[in-house]
Amino acid sequence: MLTYVEPLYRPPSEADSLILQVTIGCSYNRCSFCSMYRSKRYEERSWDEIKAEIEYAAEEYPSTRRVFLADGDALNISTEYMLKILDHLYRSFPKLERVSCYAMPKNLLQKSEQELVALRDAGLKLLYIGIESGSDTVLRKVTKGATSKGIIDGCLKAKSAGIQLSCMLILGLGGRKYSMEHAIASARVASIIAPEYLAALTLLLDDLVRDEFMSKFGEPFEQLSDVEVLDELKMLVEHIEPRDGKIIFRANHASNPYPIKAVLPDDRARVLALIDELKARPDRLKPSYLRRF
Ligand code: SF4
Repeated sequence: MLTYVEPLYRPPSEADSLILQVTIGCSYNRCSFCSMYRSKRYEERSWDEIKAEIEYAAEEYPSTRRVFLADGDALNISTEYMLKILDHLYRSFPKLERVSCYAMPKNLLQKSEQELVALRDAGLKLLYIGIESGSDTVLRKVTKGATSKGIIDGCLKAKSAGIQLSCMLILGLGGRKYSMEHAIASARVASIIAPEYLAALTLLLDDLVRDEFMSKFGEPFEQLSDVEVLDELKMLVEHIEPRDGKIIFRANHASNPYPIKAVLPDDRARVLALIDELKARPDRLKPSYLRRF
């Protein structure tokens, strides 16, 4: 049977996917805003466990087309181990079309382009990457363990290996003081990477990490109001110019005050007009008690 070490997270777009937990927790687990895996110690599941779960799921769900590999940075496992898992998945599920997982920029930097090509050829087709901010100041203050250069280099390496990217940013992460820098630098990084998908979430601090976040930030952190979040989103959308292709942009996560979907740059004018409308009618925003990170 499938056994999960809770809590289990997956991107909203993987709601219908088979979730296979190949790692437990996050190998880094030190981003000051993130409480997702604080209760877990990072470990990789054994081949015997993973093989048995694949074989069980292949019997129970033979029509599976998509598999998401949990937990927080499944790409941290060795290329050899990941190739073994991918091989067994595609052999076991005849209709399988896509395998995806979360990854950190450091996972990408630690693998060569040849390794990433081999993973893509073996069926790892989409990576979800939390870039959170393009500002080195904000990245440092939230102890992301990554720089804008590392994020760009890692993501471009994955892209040139043919792996699709779904990147995430967090609105409000720099607070009031760094809002403009956060928006413009994030737009710059997103424009250079030009991921297929870009999601903007909104910062909501869990009680478990609130004090740590405030202390690591190193100076008073002023959380943005809803209207200020909309201002930041507007600045972000204004400055995104994908280096190539188009970006499917979403700000429709459970943490966002209003669901927005767009293709950038095509829908820029519509989104900017919508943001202005929302700023004038904050009563249309989702109440804060209904939002979650
Ligand atoms: S944000 Fe991602 S990398 Fe950072 S601690 Fe959470 S799961 Fe790990």
